[in-house]
Amino acid sequence: MVPESFSPLPPSSIGVSDRMRRARGTDTAPELALRRALHRGGLRYRIQYRPPGLPRRTVDVAFTQAKLAILVDGCFWHACPEHASWPGHNGDWWRAKLEANVARDRDTDRQLGTLGWTVLRLWEHLSTEEMEASVRHALDEIRHSTCLRALA
Ligand SMILES: [Zn+2]
Repeated sequence: MVPESFSPLPPSSIGVSDRMRRARGTDTAPELALRRALHRGGLRYRIQYRPPGLPRRTVDVAFTQAKLAILVDGCFWHACPEHASWPGHNGDWWRAKLEANVARDRDTDRQLGTLGWTVLRLWEHLSTEEMEASVRHALDEIRHSTCLRALA
Protein backbone atom coordinates (compact mmCIF):
# COMPACT_ATOMS: atom_id res chain seq x y z
CA MET A 1 0.00 0.00 0.00
CA VAL A 2 1.47 3.32 -1.04
CA PRO A 3 0.50 6.29 1.11
CA GLU A 4 -1.86 8.50 -0.85
CA SER A 5 -0.54 11.77 0.42
CA PHE A 6 2.95 11.19 -0.88
CA SER A 7 4.38 14.01 -2.96
CA PRO A 8 7.76 13.01 -4.30
CA LEU A 9 10.87 15.11 -4.46
CA PRO A 10 12.71 14.78 -7.73
CA PRO A 11 14.58 11.48 -7.43
CA SER A 12 18.13 12.27 -6.55
CA SER A 13 19.79 8.94 -7.12
CA ILE A 14 19.30 5.90 -9.30
CA GLY A 15 18.50 3.75 -6.27
CA VAL A 16 15.77 6.03 -5.06
CA SER A 17 14.30 6.45 -8.49
CA ASP A 18 14.17 2.66 -8.91
CA ARG A 19 12.40 2.23 -5.63
CA MET A 20 9.95 4.99 -6.47
CA ARG A 21 9.13 3.43 -9.79
CA ARG A 22 8.54 0.08 -8.17
CA ALA A 23 6.35 1.63 -5.50
CA ARG A 24 4.11 3.45 -7.98
CA GLY A 25 0.59 2.24 -8.27
CA THR A 26 -1.16 -0.03 -5.89
CA ASP A 27 -1.10 -3.42 -7.58
CA THR A 28 2.40 -4.50 -6.66
CA ALA A 29 3.70 -7.87 -7.81
CA PRO A 30 3.69 -9.47 -4.31
CA GLU A 31 0.13 -8.29 -3.75
CA LEU A 32 -1.04 -9.61 -7.12
CA ALA A 33 0.61 -12.96 -6.42
CA LEU A 34 -1.15 -13.17 -3.07
CA ARG A 35 -4.51 -12.29 -4.60
CA ARG A 36 -4.09 -14.96 -7.26
CA ALA A 37 -3.17 -17.56 -4.65
CA LEU A 38 -6.15 -16.68 -2.45
CA HIS A 39 -8.51 -16.76 -5.40
CA ARG A 40 -7.14 -20.11 -6.55
CA GLY A 41 -7.71 -21.35 -3.02
CA GLY A 42 -11.39 -20.49 -3.27
CA LEU A 43 -11.35 -17.33 -1.17
CA ARG A 44 -13.27 -14.27 -2.28
CA TYR A 45 -12.40 -10.77 -1.22
CA ARG A 46 -12.60 -7.13 -2.18
CA ILE A 47 -9.59 -5.19 -3.39
CA GLN A 48 -8.71 -1.54 -2.85
CA TYR A 49 -11.53 -1.47 -0.33
CA ARG A 50 -12.46 1.70 1.49
CA PRO A 51 -13.94 0.65 4.83
CA PRO A 52 -17.12 2.52 5.79
CA GLY A 53 -16.20 5.14 8.36
CA LEU A 54 -12.64 5.38 7.09
CA PRO A 55 -13.02 7.05 3.70
CA ARG A 56 -9.43 8.19 3.24
CA ARG A 57 -7.76 4.83 3.79
CA THR A 58 -7.67 1.92 1.39
CA VAL A 59 -7.35 -1.73 2.33
CA ASP A 60 -5.41 -3.78 -0.24
CA VAL A 61 -7.40 -6.98 0.27
CA ALA A 62 -10.52 -7.03 2.43
CA PHE A 63 -12.68 -9.89 3.69
CA THR A 64 -15.72 -7.82 4.51
CA GLN A 65 -17.74 -10.56 6.26
CA ALA A 66 -14.88 -11.51 8.56
CA LYS A 67 -13.78 -7.87 8.76
CA LEU A 68 -10.22 -8.85 8.00
CA ALA A 69 -8.11 -6.10 6.46
CA ILE A 70 -4.93 -7.16 4.69
CA LEU A 71 -2.27 -4.65 3.81
CA VAL A 72 0.76 -5.67 1.80
CA ASP A 73 3.46 -3.21 2.80
CA GLY A 74 6.41 -2.31 0.66
CA CYS A 75 9.70 -2.74 2.51
CA PHE A 76 10.97 0.70 1.49
CA TRP A 77 7.86 2.82 1.92
CA HIS A 78 6.81 1.25 5.20
CA ALA A 79 10.32 0.91 6.65
CA CYS A 80 10.54 -2.85 7.04
CA PRO A 81 12.95 -3.63 9.92
CA GLU A 82 14.85 -6.09 7.72
CA HIS A 83 15.11 -4.04 4.55
CA ALA A 84 14.60 -0.42 5.50
CA SER A 85 17.13 1.72 3.74
CA TRP A 86 17.39 5.40 4.37
CA PRO A 87 18.46 7.37 1.31
CA GLY A 88 21.55 9.45 2.03
CA HIS A 89 20.72 12.31 -0.30
CA ASN A 90 18.00 14.52 1.18
CA GLY A 91 18.32 12.19 4.16
CA ASP A 92 16.36 14.34 6.59
CA TRP A 93 13.51 14.76 4.16
CA TRP A 94 13.33 11.02 3.50
CA ARG A 95 13.54 10.13 7.16
CA ALA A 96 10.67 12.49 7.96
CA LYS A 97 8.65 11.12 5.05
CA LEU A 98 9.18 7.47 5.90
CA GLU A 99 8.55 8.05 9.60
CA ALA A 100 5.32 9.83 8.67
CA ASN A 101 4.34 6.78 6.59
CA VAL A 102 4.91 4.49 9.56
CA ALA A 103 2.94 6.79 11.86
CA ARG A 104 0.11 6.83 9.32
CA ASP A 105 0.17 3.01 9.18
CA ARG A 106 -0.20 2.78 12.95
CA ASP A 107 -3.03 5.32 12.83
CA THR A 108 -4.76 3.29 10.11
CA ASP A 109 -4.41 0.14 12.23
CA ARG A 110 -5.86 1.88 15.25
CA GLN A 111 -8.81 3.30 13.34
CA LEU A 112 -9.57 -0.02 11.66
CA GLY A 113 -9.42 -1.70 15.06
CA THR A 114 -11.87 0.80 16.46
CA LEU A 115 -14.25 -0.07 13.62
CA GLY A 116 -14.02 -3.76 14.49
CA TRP A 117 -11.54 -4.85 11.85
CA THR A 118 -8.68 -7.26 12.34
CA VAL A 119 -5.62 -5.84 10.61
CA LEU A 120 -3.05 -8.13 9.03
CA ARG A 121 0.02 -6.40 7.63
CA LEU A 122 2.27 -8.47 5.41
CA TRP A 123 5.72 -7.37 4.29
CA GLU A 124 6.18 -7.63 0.57
CA HIS A 125 9.38 -9.64 1.16
CA LEU A 126 7.38 -12.64 2.42
CA SER A 127 6.78 -15.48 0.00
CA THR A 128 3.29 -15.86 -1.43
CA GLU A 129 2.96 -19.12 0.54
CA GLU A 130 3.81 -17.36 3.80
CA MET A 131 1.33 -14.60 3.05
CA GLU A 132 -1.44 -17.01 2.14
CA ALA A 133 -0.82 -19.06 5.30
CA SER A 134 -1.05 -15.90 7.43
CA VAL A 135 -4.32 -14.89 5.78
CA ARG A 136 -5.84 -18.34 6.29
CA HIS A 137 -4.69 -18.41 9.89
CA ALA A 138 -6.24 -15.00 10.55
CA LEU A 139 -9.52 -16.05 8.91
CA ASP A 140 -9.61 -19.22 11.02
CA GLU A 141 -9.00 -17.24 14.20
CA ILE A 142 -11.76 -14.78 13.36
CA ARG A 143 -14.22 -17.53 12.49
CA HIS A 144 -13.33 -19.38 15.66
CA SER A 145 -13.88 -16.36 17.89
CA THR A 146 -17.11 -15.47 16.06
CA CYS A 147 -18.27 -19.02 16.69
CA LEU A 148 -17.49 -18.78 20.40
CA ARG A 149 -19.34 -15.48 20.64
CA ALA A 150 -22.37 -17.02 18.97
CA LEU A 151 -22.36 -19.84 21.56
CA ALA A 152 -22.03 -17.49 24.52
ZN1 LIG B 1 11.38 -6.38 4.02
